[in-house]
This record gives sequence, structure tokens and C-alpha cells, in this order.
Amino acid sequence: CGIVGYVGHRQALDVVVDGLRRLEYRGYDSAGVAVLTGPGQLAVERKAGRLANLETRLDEVGRDGFTGTAGMGHTRWATHGPPVDRNAHPHRDAANRVAVVHNGIIENFAALRAELEADGVELSSDTDTETVAHLLAREYDATHDLPASMRTVCCRLTGAFTLVATHVDEPDLIVAARRSSPLVVGVGDGETFLASDVAAFIEHTRDAVELGQDQVVTITRDGYHVTDLHGEDVETRPFHVDWDL
Ligand code: GLU
Repeated sequence: CGIVGYVGHRQALDVVVDGLRRLEYRGYDSAGVAVLTGPGQLAVERKAGRLANLETRLDEVGRDGFTGTAGMGHTRWATHGPPVDRNAHPHRDAANRVAVVHNGIIENFAALRAELEADGVELSSDTDTETVAHLLAREYDATHDLPASMRTVCCRLTGAFTLVATHVDEPDLIVAARRSSPLVVGVGDGETFLASDVAAFIEHTRDAVELGQDQVVTITRDGYHVTDLHGEDVETRPFHVDWDL
């Protein structure tokens, strides 16, 4: 029910967990985070229940293992699969190279799941979301281009979604997309945010950009780039958040 993404100069884990806390009012049943901790490395933790459960778990495993300046977080409101740890987001491909968080519903997930299983992919959750992680990993292997992979995968999805994804071979960027589900970019100084609601990043920046329907955004610490699903640049809608939350 809430999504946060970050690339910048701070510890992503802190920014992401703070952002999730600001989205708690929406209600959720599980929470999780992923941080790119170095080239080829991804740290993920997720827990059913309150954000406090996730934080306790992070303290147990040690937050040192989550050192990195790009990451994402998620609070889940289960639609496909019960609210248990293995269904909490982020979801990953089998090789632990892609992490994805998702709000919404992938309506054609059963067909995508069947296709992946026929290809020998073993799925480890009951969610509609996990299919996206495997599809993105497969597409990335063919293209070595994460934004292009996101565009291609989105063209195969039906339903409503906000998706945020990382790949360990692209440690300085995060890609996101939306259809019939909210997504905003927060533009800071040497840092860029993604969220389902400006509340997640308003303490850091009030310069925001609203994503349109079927748009894909790539964020780096230097800014953002938005295209449609065909890869054409689109005009963005920047706005300033001048209200208080
Ligand atoms: N459909 C996904 C799931 O059940 C995402 C739910 C959400 O919007 O949090 O995991």
C-alpha cells in the first residue's frame, strides 16, 4: 500500500524506512526493504506485520549489511497470497539480481506464472508481483538495459500497478512505472526519491513530478528521466508541494 525509492548521498535504508513510516497511515499487513550494497550485491529483508517487526529484524541481522545509497521499500496490502513473510515485497528473481516492489494487481499473472514455470522458473511466493521480478531478470539478460526491460515487461502486464525495480548490475539507478496507481518523483539536491505519495519524501524535498499513465521513470542521484512505454521522451508535470501534511 506504500512505496518508497531512493538514490542519493544518504544511507538509503534510513530514508526508505522513514518514508515507509510516513505512509503507515494507509494501512498494510507486511513491510520490506531492498538496498543495493555494492556492484552485484543486493540486501533484502521483509516481514509480515508492522513496520516495527521489520525494524526489529533489521537490528537482529545488523543494519551494517544494508550500507548503500540506493534502495526501495514497500508496505503491502495483500491481494494475492496471505500476509506471510515469503509473500512480502521486495520480490526477487532466482539469481537474486533483481528486486521489485509493487502496489496494485497484475491481472494476467496466472498466465505469466504458467509461462515462467514452463520455462523451468521456480516461484517462491503466492503473489502476482513475483512474476515481474522473473520477467525483468530475463529481459535484462537479453538487453542489459533496465529501463528498456521495464518498458517491455509493462507492455505484457494487464491491471493496475506501481512498480519499482533495481538490478545489481545497475547500482546507481532505480526504475519505476505506473498504470492506474500513483507514483511521484521527488527531486532533491544530489538525491532523487520515488513514492506512492509525496508524504514519503516531503521532509527532504518539496519539488515533485507526477508520473502519467503508462510512463516509466529512471532515477539517479542527478535527476530523473521519463518515457512512455515505447521509450519516447514525454513531457513531465513538475509541481511544488506548498501544503503541509
Ligand atoms: N498484489 C500485490 C500483492 O498481493 C501487491 C499488493 C499491494 O498493493 O500492496 O502482494
